[in-house]
Amino acid sequence: MARFKRILLKLSGESLQGEQGYGIDVKRLNEYAKQIKEIADMGVQIGIVIGGGNIFRGLTGAGKGFDRVKGDQMGMCATVINSLALSSALDAIGQKNRVMTAFRMEPIGEFYGKWKAIEAMERGEIAIFSGGTGSPYFTTDTGSSLRGIEIEADVMLKGTRVDGIYTADPEKDPTATKFHDITYDEVISRGLKVMDITATAMCQQNNLPIYVFNMDVVGNLKRVLDGEEIGTLVHN
Ligand code: UDP
Repeated sequence: MARFKRILLKLSGESLQGEQGYGIDVKRLNEYAKQIKEIADMGVQIGIVIGGGNIFRGLTGAGKGFDRVKGDQMGMCATVINSLALSSALDAIGQKNRVMTAFRMEPIGEFYGKWKAIEAMERGEIAIFSGGTGSPYFTTDTGSSLRGIEIEADVMLKGTRVDGIYTADPEKDPTATKFHDITYDEVISRGLKVMDITATAMCQQNNLPIYVFNMDVVGNLKRVLDGEEIGTLVHN
């Protein structure tokens, strides 16, 4: 039995770069698809939000003179590109899925709707939610909180390149220690960079736990669903 019945999986766009440092690394993409199929085969209902940071970020664009709203819209389109890539990789291994968009973009994706998404997941299809929230000044972390809450997910699984939440950045501070679990209040008061405050507060107010784990180690997604304690749980 899988630990959760319905999940919202958040993947960062940046992780899709893999070792090449830009764009979409096909090896990483295929590894993600395989890991996701593995838990779909366990009967887990899966919604996915993928970021766009490997292609474009509105804030970075604004720093270079782009209009912020247009830059954010470019960022949201970047998430559609990544979602299509993931969808295609899932198709290639026979995993049914559909891309939904936060703004109308037919025929590239279907316009998002909660019930359409739930029906698809209940049929065993993976729902990929692209375009973030559809509004500028938000992030895909907020998009994941929103979709996770809407689809009534049991948990948001945040796949990152570190194996949980630490007292400090473990890549910079060797004395940093890892939390087994932590409250949203502590994440916010300690200023830990798990997700932005808007996203964290939404999860807190709506009681959506977040589980942070290292998605770049092949097999880890299944380990989480098998109930192995390999990451950090954020809760009320
Ligand atoms: N974005 C936005 N609204 C949203 C989600 C995303 O405007 O609801 C834009 C924003 O410019 C952001 C970019 O899309 O920088 C890419 O998303 P994000 O930075 O969250 O991707 P990640 O860092 O997870 O790869």
